[in-house]
This record gives sequence, structure tokens and C-alpha cells, in this order.
Amino acid sequence: MDPFENALTFLNNIKSNLSDEHQKYLPRLQKPQNIVKGEVEITMDNGKKQKFMAFRSQHNNALGPYKGGIRFHPNVSESEVKALSLWMSLKTSIAGIPYGGGKGGIIVEPRDLSVTELERLSRAYITFIEPHIGVDVDVPAPDVNTNGQIMAWMLDEYEKIRGHHEPGVLTGKPLEIGGSEGRTKATGYGGVLALQALLEQIKDVLDKPKAQITIAVQGFGNVGYYFAEIASDAGYRVVAVSDSKGGVYIEEGLDPAATLACKEEKGKISNCYCVGGVCELGKGKEITNEQLLELDVDVLVPAALENVLHKGNAGKIKAKVVVEMANGPLTSEADEILTKNGVLVVPDIFSNAGGVTVSYLEWVQNRMGYYWTEEEVNSKLEGIMAKAFAAMWKKYQELKAKDKKTASLRKAAYILAVERILTAEILRRP
Ligand code: NAD
Repeated sequence: MDPFENALTFLNNIKSNLSDEHQKYLPRLQKPQNIVKGEVEITMDNGKKQKFMAFRSQHNNALGPYKGGIRFHPNVSESEVKALSLWMSLKTSIAGIPYGGGKGGIIVEPRDLSVTELERLSRAYITFIEPHIGVDVDVPAPDVNTNGQIMAWMLDEYEKIRGHHEPGVLTGKPLEIGGSEGRTKATGYGGVLALQALLEQIKDVLDKPKAQITIAVQGFGNVGYYFAEIASDAGYRVVAVSDSKGGVYIEEGLDPAATLACKEEKGKISNCYCVGGVCELGKGKEITNEQLLELDVDVLVPAALENVLHKGNAGKIKAKVVVEMANGPLTSEADEILTKNGVLVVPDIFSNAGGVTVSYLEWVQNRMGYYWTEEEVNSKLEGIMAKAFAAMWKKYQELKAKDKKTASLRKAAYILAVERILTAEILRRP
């Protein structure tokens, strides 16, 4: 399914829950306010010129500057950046932070580039979008295949063009040039906070000591790894993790930090059967990514890619709770099937909002020129996630009282997010 069409299906699903006035203004969210697209050209190491297609989708800025990452991937498309920018508008809105939504990307396989080519491409991209961004206009950040180093090259290029320091124009920067403490772990930490807040409310469905609550995590990158590590440190039993090459299952619970060290040594997770810091063959078993999704666990955490749960496998999901940590891991059909089957899905726009929330705290620190400790950052993140969860949960109870079968946390989050944006739209541009 076309990514933007899929994103619009979720948006249109809540239309009848909106007031007449908000329904009238909903078309404003059905397309981005602005799309910047074109080719950027760089000189390759062999001296030849090469062009790459680049995009920036600025979805909505009623609540504040556009905010969202930059993705370097062969599957980037105009439709994908549009979908991701819409989700960013909803995510910043549900988190209650003063931003709109944006997303950018380049169609490129970064593994085919040398480091110097990657640097030239990063600088060329920022030169291309520079007229459209700024600390109060549009604030990009890392996304798939971009990182702190890439943000550093981009910031340097941007500041060269503008002729002054402006660290708040990009977030996800290394600490040395204005990054925030706590940013690396923020998305995973926010996800665990989301899970804990939910578990507090569903003791009727899942009432076990933490050590018996089993969790499977698909994807062992920035988001999946920190989710697994923080959940495990908090006392939950992480029984399965995977990366693109497959995964491992250990019934008694695995040690995420030792598993990561083992994966770094071997290049893949398979055969990394690590419990309590010790890795031994025979402790667990190898599983495929499909098997991981269908495990009989309490909590499933898709933290890798979009559309991994679809109409073909949604009916086989045994988990009682799904915490969406990737962006868009469920198709709209899978979402319907899981809701019908009584699986509680914590929606991506809330559960993975920890990353953009600490990006916001980075931006605030850049503007103040004063920096907080990791504890201070985490405590602000905890407050923001708790407030957002309380509002979403209250709306979910209202939906359940009206129609138990169709109520979902996603609907609740979407309704709140859309209402806030459209209220701001009406105040600004009636
Ligand atoms: P990453 O590149 O660090 O990690 C991705 C992980 O997924 C890797 O372990 C990779 O091996 C694995 N993977 C790839 N293909 C897979 C497959 N077919 N099956 C199983 N695993 C596979 O990326 P990330 O930053 O962890 O982002 C993961 C997801 O979370 C993306 O959807 C991203 O948009 C979303 N997200 C990230 C952040 C953030 O702060 N990094 C914030 C919000 C949302």
C-alpha cells in the first residue's frame, strides 16, 4: 500500500469522532503544507558527478516549527516522507511539545558511499533545504541511516551559509556541539515509560510480577536495543530480540547488553544466547523474524521497520500488548484485526515520542545556552510522557464507553493530536 494513503486511512478513521468544525478543517491535514524536492549533486571519489533525489516534507506548523528527521535509504520516496511528516505532526501534538511535523530524505544506499562521499552528500542536502529551515522554521534531526556525525556536518554547513551559530536548527547532535544528555536512549526509555504507564492501568488483563511479564523485541538498533536494555534493567523478562538477520529466544530471559556485545563481535544476533552477562550455546534457540512476531509473549515490541504486522500475520499475534516503537509497524488492516482480537496496541505516535521529546529539550537547551544533566532531562521526559499518557488514556475510556469494540489507544491518540492541531489552525487561519 502507498505509505501516504496508509497514513491517511488512519487519519480518516477518526473523522466521525471530530466536531463538525474540526471535520471541516481536516482536509488541511490531508496534505503537507509544503514539499521541497529536487536533485542534489556531489562529486564522487572517482571525480565523477552523481545526482541524488532529495525531499523535505513540511506537513503542518500550526503548533510550532516543522520537526522531523532526515532519512538516507534506497526506499525513500515522496509518499514515504509525506506519511512520516504527517505522523510527526501528530506525534509532537500528542506529546504536547510546541512543534509541527516534517520529514526529509534522500534516495541513497549509504553503505555504497565512502565517508567523504557521505559528508559531501550531507552538506549538499543541507545547502539544498537551507532556505526552508531554521531554528523557528523547521528543525531536522537524524532518522534511519543518519546520525550525530551527519548532523554535525549539516550544522557546520548551515552555519557557514548563515554566518552565525544556530545550534538549535538541528537536533540529535553530538554532545560536544550542543547535543543533549539522554538523547541516545530517549526513544527506548520513552517506550518503556509508555509500557509501564499502560501496565498500571490494565491489571485486569495482565497482573503478574515484572519478572514474569515476557517481552519480545523486533529490531536491535538504537530503539530496539535501548528498549530491551531499559526494560530488562527495570525487571521485565525480555525473552527474544532480533535484527535483520534473525533472532534469539531464551525462555528465562536474556541479557541485552551482553547480547549486543556478542552481536558486535559476530556481526549478527544468531547464537548470541546471553543470560546474566554470560553467553553460552545451548541456552536458547534461534528464531526467524516471523517467529518472533508470533511468539506467545505478553508484550510484542516491533522496533525495526514499517508494515511488519499486516493482514497475513496479524491474526497469529499472541501478545496481549503491542508497543509500536518503529514508525508505522502495523498496516491499517493489521490494526483492525488486532483491535478486534482485543490486543492493546500502544500507537507509535505516542510510544516512540521519547526521541522527539528529548530533541525538543535539546532545542530548548540550545536556545538557553544552558545545559541540563541526564537526570534533569530524564525527569522532564518522564513528566511529558506521563501527561500525554493520562490524556490518551482518558480519551480511550470515553471511546470505550461509547463503543467497546472499535475503541483503541490509536484512535484516542489520533483524536487528541488532530483536535489540538486543528484548534491551533482555526485560531491562526480561520
Ligand atoms: P536502526 O537502524 O538503529 O535499527 C534498526 C534495527 O532493525 C537494526 O537492528 C536492523 O538490523 C533491524 N532490522 C532491519 N530490518 C529488519 C527486519 N527485516 N527484521 C528485523 N529487524 C530488522 O534504527 P532505529 O533508529 O532503531 O529505528 C528503528 C525504527 O524506529 C524506525 O522505524 C524509526 O523510524 C523508528 N524511530 C526511531 C527513533 C530514534 O530516535 N532512533 C525515534 C522514533 C522512531
